[in-house]
This record gives sequence, C-alpha cells and structure tokens, in this order.
Amino acid sequence: MPVRDSVSPVAVKRTRRARIARRRARRVAAADNDLNDAQWATLVAAWGGCAYCGASETALQRDCVLPISRGGRYTVTNVVPACRSCNASKCNQEVTSWLRRKGLDEPAFLTAHATVLAGLAEAT
Ligand SMILES: [Zn+2]
Repeated sequence: MPVRDSVSPVAVKRTRRARIARRRARRVAAADNDLNDAQWATLVAAWGGCAYCGASETALQRDCVLPISRGGRYTVTNVVPACRSCNASKCNQEVTSWLRRKGLDEPAFLTAHATVLAGLAEAT
C-alpha cells in the first residue's frame, strides 16, 4: 500500500460524503447480482430447457440476456437458462441480433421471457 500523502490530489475524494457514496455504490452493485438458487430453480422450471433453442436434455447454464459487459447483471429478470452451445455462441452479443443471426425465433423468445417474468412477479 503506497503512502497516502503520495497520492495525487485528483485521485480519490476522501471526504465523508464521498466515502458514503462509494460504499452505497458497492452495495447497489452487490444487490444487483442477487440471483439465488431458488430463483434459478424457478427459472429452469419455467423455461423447461434452453431459453433460446429449447434444448432440455443438456446441462443448463446461467446466461445474462443483457450481457454483463453491456451493463447486465445476474438478476432473476436478466438471467435465463441456456445450453452450453447457445451460451458460448451468444457470448457477449446483444440478444435480439444474435437470435436473428442464428435463425432462432426472436419474437417467441421475447414473448416467453415476458411470460416467465410475469409468472415470477405473481409468485412473489
Ligand atoms: Zn440452446
């Protein structure tokens, strides 16, 4: 750890207000990644397979519809079960353009996603 006084004045604000703001930002970020095991199980049951191609005879992975790199988080509204093949293919691409490129049913996915989320909202 460097000597504090050697840090340039513009680096980090050390006021009380700035510290509180940073702490809050970390809390919000943590709360944004709140998908728990029960929610995951509910998502898998609701989709009944890969959310993109429908494959059900395979291990399902947690895929962020809006990729982390584009601001998405591991939340119940942003995660869908995906087979390894779809997850690897989609990677960090925007979901609708990826679905179209893959020749998958984009409207069907969006409708099913909305239906699953509506069902989750009702259950809680
Ligand atoms: Zn798939």
